[in-house]
Amino acid sequence: MATDEQARAKVVESLLGRFFDGEMRPELVRDLQLAGPVFDGFGAVPGITVGQEFDSREAAAEAGVHRPLQAGICGTAAHGAESIVVSGGYEDDEDHGDLIIYTGQGGRDERTGQQVRDQELTRGNAALVTSMTTGTPVRVIRGWEGDAAHSPTRGYRYDGLFRVEDHWSEIGRSGYLVWRYRLTQLVETSQGQPQHPQLPTTPKHPQGRETPVRATTTTQRIVRSTAVAEYVKRIHDYTCQVCGIRLTTSIGAYAEAAHIRGLGRPHAGPDVAANVLCLCPNHHTLFDFGMLIINDDLTVVDCADRSVIGRLRVRGAHEVGRQYLAYHRAHHDQRGAVLDNSQ
Ligand SMILES: [Zn+2]
Repeated sequence: MATDEQARAKVVESLLGRFFDGEMRPELVRDLQLAGPVFDGFGAVPGITVGQEFDSREAAAEAGVHRPLQAGICGTAAHGAESIVVSGGYEDDEDHGDLIIYTGQGGRDERTGQQVRDQELTRGNAALVTSMTTGTPVRVIRGWEGDAAHSPTRGYRYDGLFRVEDHWSEIGRSGYLVWRYRLTQLVETSQGQPQHPQLPTTPKHPQGRETPVRATTTTQRIVRSTAVAEYVKRIHDYTCQVCGIRLTTSIGAYAEAAHIRGLGRPHAGPDVAANVLCLCPNHHTLFDFGMLIINDDLTVVDCADRSVIGRLRVRGAHEVGRQYLAYHRAHHDQRGAVLDNSQ
């Protein structure tokens, strides 16, 4: 029992260390911890079921479903986001049920709710990026002011766990920079594992898919066409198009296929070779985070210091689509796109 109490005390301490503006009273967190099993704030809240409704933000906070009373995102850059409220507060939000395109917080006039300045990649906005990198699920709470098709008619409703799949910045409808997140609902079932097709000995240009199919696995995710990915990797002999490094593993060469324009909604890029790069894991990560952009002349820019670090390596059989590079630049080459991990 002593170890259980120690564990509980540690969790309470950690929760209290994650407080920020508009948080519910610390005593409530303490009560919550004493009442149920040890809960660190992430994932499903013990005793709360998907679909459970709450009359108010206060009620949702007391239940531990979404602790802040005002902020739409509960979380920190260091730990990630515990929960978000989707309530139609931002004009750029899109709710498609099991897929949410969520707009970050900040930049709004308190009184009018209008976007009046750029959003920053700090606090809750940075927390959602951390959740993306760690893969930690985020609780989604929908409010009555949200999309009519998917929101409760009154109060708030806990709608289960979602994964942050992607993030980017763009100029919102009001003309200011907003951060956007693609969240997909985690589903319990496990089926439809993609089949790996037999590969021919010499790479042949595959047709690919203009609209990639979705399969239900442990999470709703886009199944990348293995044929297109393999084709591009083999054209480049598994050599990174940015740095020229070819990784050799015990089972052969290793490289990653990076889609330039994302496959999922709202990007809806095609799964074709012209939209794919062959990259090493490091450059794939930097590219997906928008820390590397590629100009039409194929010069590669490191966004951390705006320096040109080289030119994309190309092979005649693999034409890189300039329209996809332009799309990637538009969504990532924004002001100050560096994650501040210090808070
Ligand atoms: Zn590389």
